[in-house]
Amino acid sequence: MSRLMATMDTEMTQGLSDDPEERRKTSLQMAPSYIRSLLDGTEDGDFLALDLGGTNFRVLLCKMCSGKCRSISRKYNLSPETRSGPAAGVFDHVAESIYMFLKEENMLDQKLPLGFSFSFPMEPLSVRRAVLTTWTKTFSCPDGVGEDVVDMLESAISRRGDIQVDVVVVLNDATGTLLAGSYVDHTCHIGAIMGTGSNMAYLEKLTNVKKWDQDFDEPSQVAIDVEWGAFGDNGSLDFLKTDFDRAIDAHSHHHGSFTFEKLFSGHYVGDLLRLILVHLTERGLMFQGRGLDKLGVWGSFKANYISDIEKDTDKNVTRTWRVLEALGLTCVASDDDVAILRYLASAVSIRAAQIVGACLSVVTRRSKRTRSTVAMDGSHYRYHPKLQHMISAWLAHYVPQTTVNNLTCSPSVLPLGSLNRDRAYRGIIVDHF
Ligand code: BGC
Ligand code: MG
Repeated sequence: MSRLMATMDTEMTQGLSDDPEERRKTSLQMAPSYIRSLLDGTEDGDFLALDLGGTNFRVLLCKMCSGKCRSISRKYNLSPETRSGPAAGVFDHVAESIYMFLKEENMLDQKLPLGFSFSFPMEPLSVRRAVLTTWTKTFSCPDGVGEDVVDMLESAISRRGDIQVDVVVVLNDATGTLLAGSYVDHTCHIGAIMGTGSNMAYLEKLTNVKKWDQDFDEPSQVAIDVEWGAFGDNGSLDFLKTDFDRAIDAHSHHHGSFTFEKLFSGHYVGDLLRLILVHLTERGLMFQGRGLDKLGVWGSFKANYISDIEKDTDKNVTRTWRVLEALGLTCVASDDDVAILRYLASAVSIRAAQIVGACLSVVTRRSKRTRSTVAMDGSHYRYHPKLQHMISAWLAHYVPQTTVNNLTCSPSVLPLGSLNRDRAYRGIIVDHF
């Protein structure tokens, strides 16, 4: 963990350097987002939003008024064929979904400002221009890389000709999470995602962004999209990989890249645990050496099985049995197998929390703020019963002045999924973030 934290610290500095030689060494993109201020609760109006790239594709209508945000959202998920077909097909689907949303909301005659949360690495050119660096996660379109994301969206919208929107911002989901966090907590300066993929964004002082040759007007800060999903793609994290991690990489769509998120994010973590089970079963150490026909299939062990297993207690292991049932293993599984499976699910989760907690501590330490809050989101984080607590605990471990679960201390973790409930007393409601 010390080596991991030191590597991240070094690579963050390299990624901000004005020396191209230094920048070549890092695996962190450290992309300046052109977003120069966070939110303060005075942003009023009706806005459309798109959330594309994670588990679900959603269109949202957000009504922001006096520090409250009410939103309506609908899911229009993309088929696997669309996710691997031409990029124009992806954006046609997005444009069609906007049309359907506006129709269902009776808003086809309105022209609203639209914010586009696009959960992929981009090279931003302005707040509303950004070039796609690479597809990741479940997307593997043959084209689109090197193209302006907003151009692709606007072209699809004009191909239809039946909707009007004003695209005002395109941003990565980690940056979006940072902004959403700042809406309810002004000490929030970090956003992190543990969903299908993983990423982190934070607010950096312009004087530290040496590579960015801009006029330094106020405010002297910018949100940086770290793109830590690809951390270690230069080999710097090989020291912590297991054989199982190497097997995950060898099998993935994006071979040799996205090293960091493959260690724990939702798209990979089910297979990671599955490979350990296969390893033990092949040696006759679990499930009487049987049941490999289903267990041997990639993708058969879902990330949410880990969350389910982690919800069980020593006294009640019904969820774990249900997972075994889904895998066709009930006939061959013993109570010992259940205990081993629970142990492995917790080992995989602890490693995830420890890695994320350690890396978040690097950012909070670098910022030198007296208090900092991390806004967190993403499907795997949200549905896992223990990650929130464990990440907070590891963050506290690596930044010793932290007192966990007390928002007045520094740093703390703000789970965006529960903003609604936790923050209702402040009169702030953020749905569906
Ligand atoms: C992408 C990031 C994104 C993250 C979380 C990663 O695979 O590269 O841009 O923020 O997933 O969705
Ligand atoms: Mg998401």
